[in-house]
Amino acid sequence: MQIVLATHNRGKMEEMSAILGHLPVELLTLDVFPEIGDIPETGNTLKENAFIKAETVHRLTGLPALADDTGLEVDALNGAPGIYSARYAGADATFDDNCQKMLKELHDIPIEKRTARFRTVIAFANGGEKEWVEGVAEGRIIEDKRGIGGFGYDPIFYYPPLRKTFAELDSVEKNSISHRGKALRNFCGILEKWI
Ligand code: IMP
Repeated sequence: MQIVLATHNRGKMEEMSAILGHLPVELLTLDVFPEIGDIPETGNTLKENAFIKAETVHRLTGLPALADDTGLEVDALNGAPGIYSARYAGADATFDDNCQKMLKELHDIPIEKRTARFRTVIAFANGGEKEWVEGVAEGRIIEDKRGIGGFGYDPIFYYPPLRKTFAELDSVEKNSISHRGKALRNFCGILEKWI
């Protein structure tokens, strides 16, 4: 049985394979379907965006499809950047641009009020079947970047239980506590029943 992951991102593919790899499914990425370009994320929520991607890929490939969408929600910014996390500092923003903008916006906010969370929604589409799950990781935005691992906002996302930023964790540690890791493990249960 094959499932298409609605992403070109090898890193995500590896993360997903590490968690779903024991199941009797072959995971494909969009690299196998180069004719499918970027899918515009026009939804108003992570869930809408994840379903837009999963349903589009399912329609175009005829295969069961899985998509994820992630946002960083910062309480002092009323939940921003949320669904706009990738383009927080502008359409062509780099990960560093986004981190620098966040540090600037929060510069006068005391550490106890810098609470934030990563939220991932995973959506699955196959014919009339639709399933979705969520995973959340709670932490805080620190005042300077720390660590060189991970990507995105990882260097400024501090995870109190481990006293490290996500960029100071190796991939196994990060998968075990991250928003996406949790969402994927939640999805495993659904996939097992579905298989
Ligand atoms: P996407 O939905 O996975 O494309 O994520 C949207 C944006 O959220 C990315 O461009 C990153 O900036 C950020 N992001 C997603 N996942 C992570 C993560 O695990 N760590 C840090 N930033 C992330």
